[in-house]
Amino acid sequence: MGQAVTVEIVIRVIALLAAAVAFAAAWSARPAVLRLRTHGGNSPMSALNCPSPDCNAQRRTGQYLCWDCWDALPTLTRRALSIRDDLARARLQILHRQLAAGAPPHEIEIRL
Ligand SMILES: [Zn+2]
Repeated sequence: MGQAVTVEIVIRVIALLAAAVAFAAAWSARPAVLRLRTHGGNSPMSALNCPSPDCNAQRRTGQYLCWDCWDALPTLTRRALSIRDDLARARLQILHRQLAAGAPPHEIEIRL
């Protein structure tokens, strides 16, 4: 009789511990998820404002500029910026530098 009660208590304690471990794991995973979310929100790559200083429009993910500024770029510049190769980052830097210097989109020439 006493033996059976002891076994039942042991099983309950084990079940309680298992639940506590699962709860602790879920709890410790939570801040990591929150950090990932806030990091994504603050990173410059996900700030979706058009980089043109006079422009308040939003660009979409994967776009360098909003549609209006993109359409204003000279055809050759647009073509150059559309090439995805080792120089793509350098072209984007030129674009950003020229915009920051106040160059209007239709005057930006990129020939890399
Ligand atoms: Zn724009």
